[in-house]
Amino acid sequence: MKNLNYFGFLFLVVISRPVMAEIPEHEEKIPPTKLEIPQRHEEEEEKRKPGVKPSGVCNDLARFSAAPGEYDDGTGIAYSPGKVNETLQALKAKEFATYQAAYLKALKAPPFRKRILDLTGIASHPGCEKPDTASVQCLKNASAELAKISLGRAFLSTGSGRNREPGGDITDFDLLIHDDTFLKTEKKLIESSRSKITNKAMSKKIEEDIFPKVRKILVGVLEKNIQDPELKKNIMEKVNSIRYAGSDCSDFFADPKGNSVAGLAIPNAFYQRITNSFKFCNGFLLQNQSAFQIAFTIAHELAHSIDPCGIVVDAENKRFDYVKPKDREFCEQAYPFKGLIPCLRGSDSIQAKTLEPASDLGPLGRIPGLPPPEKQNDKPKPDDSILPPVRKQGPQLSDRSPFCTKDDQISEAFADRIAIEVTPAFIKQEYKDRKPPLTKENYQIGYSNVFRDVIGYKDAVDEKFDEHPDTKDRINKIILPHPEVREQMGCLPETVDGTVSCPLSKEKKT
Ligand SMILES: [Zn+2]
Repeated sequence: MKNLNYFGFLFLVVISRPVMAEIPEHEEKIPPTKLEIPQRHEEEEEKRKPGVKPSGVCNDLARFSAAPGEYDDGTGIAYSPGKVNETLQALKAKEFATYQAAYLKALKAPPFRKRILDLTGIASHPGCEKPDTASVQCLKNASAELAKISLGRAFLSTGSGRNREPGGDITDFDLLIHDDTFLKTEKKLIESSRSKITNKAMSKKIEEDIFPKVRKILVGVLEKNIQDPELKKNIMEKVNSIRYAGSDCSDFFADPKGNSVAGLAIPNAFYQRITNSFKFCNGFLLQNQSAFQIAFTIAHELAHSIDPCGIVVDAENKRFDYVKPKDREFCEQAYPFKGLIPCLRGSDSIQAKTLEPASDLGPLGRIPGLPPPEKQNDKPKPDDSILPPVRKQGPQLSDRSPFCTKDDQISEAFADRIAIEVTPAFIKQEYKDRKPPLTKENYQIGYSNVFRDVIGYKDAVDEKFDEHPDTKDRINKIILPHPEVREQMGCLPETVDGTVSCPLSKEKKT
């Protein structure tokens, strides 16, 4: 993950904290929350004084998104944040006995038994000195320790052997975790734990069913909104060649080797520019099976392939070129979705922010209320003469597009705006024959479910500039004002006061 420019995430990728929370004492099953969405009747609508804002989900959907509980929208259930962590911790607690039993079995082999009793220090205990005559208790202690170590490694949490009090030697510990039998046993155990939380069926459905359908709708949207025929052909080709790279997101986050359980519990999704592929992480499926969320997320990731940054990534003869890539204002006008960038920057929309480089504008050139961008670390280090020469960096994406920096929210705002163009059409198409049909209430819950399982996550990292706009705004300023969403939700009036749904292009096909 050397260059973040090559990734487009659905959410900020700072999620290790919830994953590593302590094991809860009890796992309480909370009954599904009964929903009481206030019904607004037409007479009431008529009686409402002009200028009085409607209340409830039609005016503030984000508030309902953040409500605790689990909500079935008729296409699937979404849980409030924390569900994935609960699942993970429950599995961890349950797996202890399995892990210990496997190590007890492995300890029957005399060489492994001798090695482990020595390395753990258990061999010093009376009754445990000789591997052949070691008591059941000696082996129980040894297997429990091995189980704890492996669980800690599988779930990427501390609290296992790593943090043992002095007495055990760190060298012993390192030797122990590199023992061949230990590693082989552990590998099997972790594989089995991983399969217990992997939703293979849903990943297959995404690959074979949902993703192709979402993409087809997206291609239709591009067809309508891109004017230049050559460019339209090229970007449709690019979108049509996006690949689904699966639901195992271990390799990109905390688990580079991809052999932990924690790597399957990351509630996120991302598009990778360099491979033109996206992942829909298994962690999402652990806490949200709503078709609204899945369709929105996939459409969002696909949109990153043509967002104001991604559109410059393709073969030289295929990609879109900004004629004056250094001139941001010029580029905002030149972007093929005419008028969309200025609209998304506007205060009546999501107000996608950008941090101007401090060198260009000085300390006053930044947005009030936001911290200054991190200082570029471009000063030579004192001793770098002894280091091999740093390879000169090739052209950067930011040379081609002013939007390829982490200091701009426009690409994320764009991806959300595209996603909400696609989602209502997908739901309508997929559930048109549902009996009974989806109701207004189903739609209200459905759109609130898009961010239900993650709203609140962002709070923990708020001090830093985030390339994603606030989740609350993503809901209330992108999802909620969309005319088709409002219609499906039964929301009148047709607009939310003071907020517009940005048109994808001012130049409509005639
Ligand atoms: Zn994104």
